[in-house]
Amino acid sequence: MTKVGVLALQGDVAEHLAALERAGAPAFPVKNVAGLAAVDALVVPGGESTTVMKLLERGGLVEPLLERVEGGMPLWGTCMGMIVAARKVADLDQPTLGLIDITVRRNAFGRQNESAEVDLRIPALGGPPFHAIFIRAPWIERCGPNVELLAERDGRGVMVREHNVLATSFHPELSGDRRVHRYFLDMIARHQGGRAA
Ligand code: GLN
Repeated sequence: MTKVGVLALQGDVAEHLAALERAGAPAFPVKNVAGLAAVDALVVPGGESTTVMKLLERGGLVEPLLERVEGGMPLWGTCMGMIVAARKVADLDQPTLGLIDITVRRNAFGRQNESAEVDLRIPALGGPPFHAIFIRAPWIERCGPNVELLAERDGRGVMVREHNVLATSFHPELSGDRRVHRYFLDMIARHQGGRAA
């Protein structure tokens, strides 16, 4: 059975583990290179992007992670995870993994709007709008040619996919709706090696 890892260096790890289990996937915290080698897919949760990048570097996880994702392993970044996975952070010289060809802006929805709950239309999920929880969320300012825009809030991209990499600005692990988790599990099920869609 597919094993899904949740990067467990800092951030909302427990919520994602619980949501994945409820969506039907055995889920494991990933803290180091051996943990990464033991899973078939990885969720990078919300947290603080500069801290997590430093911890990834310190733990020697950057190269193995790039190698796995380039080899086709599905990865899903939520909020901080989207920032870490992005090619570039707007107006900041912040290192990222560059796994998905997007430019993101951190804390983009404004101070007075630090957290918000918004019903998003996400056709790829089917069914009613998705009740999305945003916490100091980034938005997407630029998408590369192979990036599929899956949802927008106020005209700004908040959910995207490029082949085996999924990114959401919001926190599906915090709402009871498990459709985004199921969407990711479906990506894993369809993944048969290689970086094909
Ligand atoms: N603002 C955080 C960052 O820029 C992300 C917030 C989150 O993941 N909830 O790293």
